[in-house]
Amino acid sequence: MSASDTSGVFQHWRFDNAYLKALPADPESANYRRQVPAACYSWVAPTSVPNPALVACAPEVASLLDLAPEACQTDEFLRLFSGNELLPGMTPWACCYGGHQFGNWAGQLGDGRAINLAEIVNQKGQHYTLQLKGAGPTPYSRNADGLAVLRSSVREFLCSEAMHHLGVPTTRALSLVNSGQTVMRDMFYDGNARYEPGAVVCRVAQSFTRFGNFQIHAARQEHELLKRLVDFTIERDFPELGEPCEAVYGRWFAEVCQRTATLMVHWMRVGFVHGVMNTDNLSILGLTIDYGPYGWLEGYDPDWTPNTTDAGQRRYRYGQQPQIGHWNLYQLANGISPLFGDTDLLQKTLDQYAVTYQQQWQAMMADKLGLDGWRDRADEQLIVRLQDLLRLTETDMTIFFRSLASIETSDAGLALDDRELLAPLREAFYRPQELTGGIERRIAAWLRDYQQRLRLQPISDGERAAAMNRVNPRYVLRNFLAQQAIDLAEKGDYSEVRTLLELLRKPYDEQPQFAHYAKRRPEWARQRAGCSMLSCSS
Ligand code: AMP
Ligand code: MG
Repeated sequence: MSASDTSGVFQHWRFDNAYLKALPADPESANYRRQVPAACYSWVAPTSVPNPALVACAPEVASLLDLAPEACQTDEFLRLFSGNELLPGMTPWACCYGGHQFGNWAGQLGDGRAINLAEIVNQKGQHYTLQLKGAGPTPYSRNADGLAVLRSSVREFLCSEAMHHLGVPTTRALSLVNSGQTVMRDMFYDGNARYEPGAVVCRVAQSFTRFGNFQIHAARQEHELLKRLVDFTIERDFPELGEPCEAVYGRWFAEVCQRTATLMVHWMRVGFVHGVMNTDNLSILGLTIDYGPYGWLEGYDPDWTPNTTDAGQRRYRYGQQPQIGHWNLYQLANGISPLFGDTDLLQKTLDQYAVTYQQQWQAMMADKLGLDGWRDRADEQLIVRLQDLLRLTETDMTIFFRSLASIETSDAGLALDDRELLAPLREAFYRPQELTGGIERRIAAWLRDYQQRLRLQPISDGERAAAMNRVNPRYVLRNFLAQQAIDLAEKGDYSEVRTLLELLRKPYDEQPQFAHYAKRRPEWARQRAGCSMLSCSS
């Protein structure tokens, strides 16, 4: 590992590394697995890789870091973001955190394969942490290797950017590098381990702090350190709340609850299932973080989870994500409760989460349907019935909502027979042959009530469609699309990764040249690994 800045590509970067200055480091600097008490992080350098190649980079993220797109094509960029070189002033570190995994306290987890390079202040004065994922072991790697395979790195890279462009709060991804190194994985935990290509992603966020960063200090009774971390987080990332004190801690927790509720509403809106909502995977900023065995709803099914590891319990299924958000906030509240003389406030704030979520969810559903607000019980009934309808026959969530914008409320639209009325939605049905008598009639009956409801509002069909098309995406990162890009990338062809990155930049636009990417999942993908189910192996 060398430290140099020969090129000038990064010369204008200013590191402030405020986290490191404010919080205590692990005094041990050797890189071996251990428990790390009384510290927020450990010093650790990335491990060099033999033969890195740039797979893709996101120009919008480069721009956040004041880098021109050309800078991403330089050797210096590749050396830095493969973990092969550090810049002067970089003192990389891995964070200590704990977490509840699948409902149970798991003790210390930490950045087992994430290494933070630096905190940068850009020309606008915004701070961003650069973090390599898959750049080798750290003191928190436990019994794992600190590496990441190309398939999961393609998924993280693409999905981070897809989510951002969908308007969902998320950590970002600057670059995806094939490390040139193979990594051993047993993808289905069935004794069939094999070598796979390895990769390093550079993630970027204002902060990577998770609920678990607070929990670990509470679990260890490190209350002074807990307070320092909370104070730092408020000062750094929530300055609008004021100087840290007990009242501000209360407002801060309320803000975290609010952001978590908002994030859950976004996930429900776009049909995203995180798959591993452990408390170490919940961001204190309310960002989507740690893309593992996530998936997108294709057929609408609230019970669906992409994560094979969770197939029995389905704890992290689509429809349960908001409640799990709440459960995780409870754990966070427990963790920070030593800072409160009066913990009633925490309880009240937690209770408020359900109210906030429900309000935001209703507003979001109204937007998805093109309603001018949530008027009364009749609107509630409309939505309750819709959720049932979507399950009568396998119905693609994304295509259904997008197509709903084509429903007409003119007299001609009202005069259509059932079949004609359903015509704009046909693409959404996986088994059109099931649309016989009863099912077709029920969907049509709902559509007629929907038309009547729309006629109560004074906007044209065109205006309504335009508004709906801003919240109902045409393109999402369907699991099989990601898998097709991975299959090619594993053969050294990165074109599909780049194409997906390109089309997912404008998920709400029609983009006719990409229309085939908006189609429902083909039958061959129904049971194929990576296309419908994923394990945690990554
Ligand atoms: P996850 O729930 O997948 O985000 O990861 C849970 C914990 O396992 C975190 O502490 C990760 O850093 C750690 N971890 C996951 N995969 C690896 C790996 N290949 N090497 C080291 N640590 C890992
Ligand atoms: Mg994690």
